Amino acid sequence: MNNGISTHRGLLGSSFFASVCFWIAISPAFAQQSAPRDPAEPQQGQPHPKVLLRPAAAIARQSVDEKSMRALIDQLVSCGTRLSLSSWTDAKRGIGCGRDHIVARLNEIAKDSGGKLQVVVDKFDSTSERTSGKPLHLESVYAILPGSDPKLAKTLFIVSGHYDSRPSDVMNTEADAPGADDDASGVSVSVESARLLSKAAANGKGGYRATLLFAAIPGEEQGLLGGYRLLEWAKQQGYAIGGMLDDDIVGDDPSPGAPHRVRLFSGNGEIDDCDSPGRELARAIEEIDGRENIRMIFRVDRYGRGGDHYPFYKAGLPAVRFTEPLEDYTHQHQTPRKENSIEYGDFAKYLNLTFLGEVARDNAEALGQLAMAPAAPTNARLTGAVTPDAKVSWSAEDDPERASFEILWRETTEPRWQVYDFAASPGETVLRGVSTDNHFFAVRAVGKNGARSIAVPTEIERRPPPLPAGAKQ
Ligand SMILES: [Zn+2]
Repeated sequence: MNNGISTHRGLLGSSFFASVCFWIAISPAFAQQSAPRDPAEPQQGQPHPKVLLRPAAAIARQSVDEKSMRALIDQLVSCGTRLSLSSWTDAKRGIGCGRDHIVARLNEIAKDSGGKLQVVVDKFDSTSERTSGKPLHLESVYAILPGSDPKLAKTLFIVSGHYDSRPSDVMNTEADAPGADDDASGVSVSVESARLLSKAAANGKGGYRATLLFAAIPGEEQGLLGGYRLLEWAKQQGYAIGGMLDDDIVGDDPSPGAPHRVRLFSGNGEIDDCDSPGRELARAIEEIDGRENIRMIFRVDRYGRGGDHYPFYKAGLPAVRFTEPLEDYTHQHQTPRKENSIEYGDFAKYLNLTFLGEVARDNAEALGQLAMAPAAPTNARLTGAVTPDAKVSWSAEDDPERASFEILWRETTEPRWQVYDFAASPGETVLRGVSTDNHFFAVRAVGKNGARSIAVPTEIERRPPPLPAGAKQ
């Protein structure tokens, strides 16, 4: 069956690219691109960088254990409701039942990891309108795979799903709320990523230099309470956030032709050129997993909606959200019932395990490569306005595992970076004859293993406008 899937994916990939090529061939944009370059951007002198190959994919699609993912989802659904206001102590019904199943599964995985994976239950109180303004006891489950590099071990790459669920009324503790897709599916991706990556680490493969955290958190439906807590907890532990991947509603893909590409949401941020850290994380994930697998959406979340990546995004950190291609609103946030012959309710029978398995592989592969990469550069700057040459500078600590830096650029209208040139060491590089005005620029670090940090866009040099004569600044 797995072979069938990869063959299908192969076909999907080739037909996707074939159609892209066809589109390019007939598109007026192609004519525009193949036209002589603008004389203001002369071709001469432009470097032709030899791009170092990325690490070969470490997480094979057939190594994803869809059966165990489904078993965990069924166990979570069997708790009846996992509303954050329901019981934390009843082993059979309520959110405590959900926590117990997740902890048990992660402990199994930790055992197989030769003790590398550490399972932590983080107990805390939180308050929102949806807790009637009263402090609510909550418990998050984290599995931690410590990084192997002493300098990078305090950088954290997170994958998270929320294990609370809700019926139509978000305050109703009695109604059933199976929450198979929203969001037992995301929890299963986080837990399966823990299995795949800790197994690789236990086998001496992987070489994850940064620390990986696999989270299952509560309180999402009560106001992202687990997401805010996760950010606070990480800071308290002294971690810097390398990246946060939120998986929420990733289990269904009902349209003909499935599996389709998972959607990957990233917000614009607040700077002029829409290059938020979350956007850079999204671009890095798309490069790692391929355009045939990831559909980037340049928007912080589905229109008017939110998720646990949001607290990280608002804090200016690299955070993104994975969500299935086409949501079915009769399944989400619905008390199970039948009305006008429509069945409402978020049941496991609607899930597409082939699609869910793809999402798990895409998450695990991206997390693994990001955790293998050197630290991202800092203080990236662009200077040289009103001169013929752009000058890009950046800082980075010494790292014997780093091969070089890639200087990236893109047309201001392009969504994706291209490699302009390499630089062996931090400092300033002059891009001869390149205007500061017509492209955006960024820098990223490349490891000897081929793994890339996320890109760091150059900060804009602020030139104060000339003041009228006699005016004081
Ligand atoms: Zn959700």
